[in-house]
Amino acid sequence: MATILDGKKLANDIKKTLAHEVLLLEGNQVKPGLAVILVGENPASKIYVKNKRKACDEVGIESFDYHLPESTSQEEIEKLIAQLNADKKVHGILVQLPLPPSLNEQRIFEMIDPSKDVDGFHPVNMGKLVSGLLSLRPCTPLGIIALLDSIGYQLEGQQAVVVGRSKIVGKPVALLLLERHATVTICHSKTHNLSEIIKSADVVVAAVGVPKFVKGDWIKQGAVVIDVGINRMDDGSIVGDVDFQEASKYASAITPVPGGVGPMTIAMLLSNVVEAAKKCNS
Ligand code: NDP
Repeated sequence: MATILDGKKLANDIKKTLAHEVLLLEGNQVKPGLAVILVGENPASKIYVKNKRKACDEVGIESFDYHLPESTSQEEIEKLIAQLNADKKVHGILVQLPLPPSLNEQRIFEMIDPSKDVDGFHPVNMGKLVSGLLSLRPCTPLGIIALLDSIGYQLEGQQAVVVGRSKIVGKPVALLLLERHATVTICHSKTHNLSEIIKSADVVVAAVGVPKFVKGDWIKQGAVVIDVGINRMDDGSIVGDVDFQEASKYASAITPVPGGVGPMTIAMLLSNVVEAAKKCNS
């Protein structure tokens, strides 16, 4: 039976370390601060923002919440970001996605000071990631690497298959896997022979957004399976992008949903805020 990669426990361990680092920073008169901008009333986004605030409280990061109405204009949000860029109490700025379609998401991300871009989506930080330079990096991909590290998994020379090529998960996690010397294949909706490609993988990262998309018998015996998917079903349950029950019969290790990648994303967000605060202190 597969080892369950317990993201909740690992995230809690990381939060304890971060709480200690926050105390050290406070000794230097720096209190890490995260500003979170939520536009509109998307119920899932509201839950994510609440969870982020709670996590900030747990480690001693100050959170500044900006809940703006759906009707917020591009000009208003840009003005707020300019204010937050200049605010010394704010070390990280996060804009909760999705934004209403009337807003220009790319332009908003480009407005954020790259040194406060704790989501790692600014083109400067993305460019640094591609160039192999240190920068603030996207949280979910960082969480995935931390999960693999937690079991001492050696990525060097391994075949890694990433299903999904989004800016927030697929592409950046592929780059991080490559940085660790894995041989990386990125698959997407136009990929042919997907199940065969997945069957060749020592590590599978599924970030598709389709419930139980990856079938158990697509998994090579002994592979490690990372399920990024968060799919809310009609009955209120949350399932991943992998058929967990079936895949567990083939995998050597697998992340559950919930309790796998999700908590790690938040832990890595907090870690990025602390890193950003340390930089401003150095
Ligand atoms: P996107 O919708 O942005 O991207 C989905 C990707 O999956 C696209 O690249 C798409 O291909 C690909 N895809 C869709 N259908 C298929 C198919 N039939 N075969 C192969 N590839 C396919 O999603 P995200 O990357 O933002 O999120 C993915 C999942 O992860 C979602 O469930 C999301 O909720 C979850 N998530 C979880 C997080 C966490 O913290 N655990 C954080 C972020 C996301 P194409 O590009 O060709 O359209």
